Amino acid sequence: MFVDSFKHKGMRRLMIEHLRSKGISDQRVLDAMNNVPRHFFLDSSLDTLAYEDKALEILCKQTISQPSTVAFQTQLLDVSPFEKVLEIGTGSGYQTSVLCFLKARVYTIERFKPLHNSAQMVFDALKIRPKCFFGDGYLGLPAFAPFDKVLITCAAPSLPKELVKQMKIGGVMVVPIGEGTQTMYRIKKLSETEIDVQSYGEFKFVPMLKERKFY
Ligand code: SAH
Repeated sequence: MFVDSFKHKGMRRLMIEHLRSKGISDQRVLDAMNNVPRHFFLDSSLDTLAYEDKALEILCKQTISQPSTVAFQTQLLDVSPFEKVLEIGTGSGYQTSVLCFLKARVYTIERFKPLHNSAQMVFDALKIRPKCFFGDGYLGLPAFAPFDKVLITCAAPSLPKELVKQMKIGGVMVVPIGEGTQTMYRIKKLSETEIDVQSYGEFKFVPMLKERKFY
């Protein structure tokens, strides 16, 4: 079922060259994305589109983020091996896998049960073991906090305060904020009461919504 052919590998190398031309310079991010077969996360009817720089539909009317957005967020997050990373919005599991290939210890939350389940099948095929939770990302995972890094892959209406609480001092969050289009922010936690905020341009994500959905 999960076959990574020479053709897929070739298309993936072209995708990496495209990402480089768009300003992604972190070689670890490019290597990780060259190692993750994006077509594994998509319906087989989308196989030939998997390595174009496009967001594509997955289950539950959600989308897999476009490769340049995954690369941009991952580069901003600046993950080192063994760091504890909390991801909100498992979705297809593609971004989760890129973080795993960077050797992060990944905790990921998804609010749609079918997505939570289908991502797990791909993780098994890739022999990676992120810790996957079915729940509401706004609540984070207090039992596993604090995290070195937090990555939000859906559009937050405002800065999710509970998740800032669950970051280490010195920790970093990458989060798209806004309705319609979003501004990408990199938040650094300086102390229990202070954060540094940098902004990085406009993006488009599906909204971050509350509560779990079983369908
Ligand atoms: N990282 C994903 C992106 C999927 S789109 C990928 O690489 O495919 C964003 C995902 O966030 C969707 O699957 C959506 O269901 C999920 N999401 C939205 N609000 C959420 C919330 N409050 N908690 C957890 N997941 C949420």
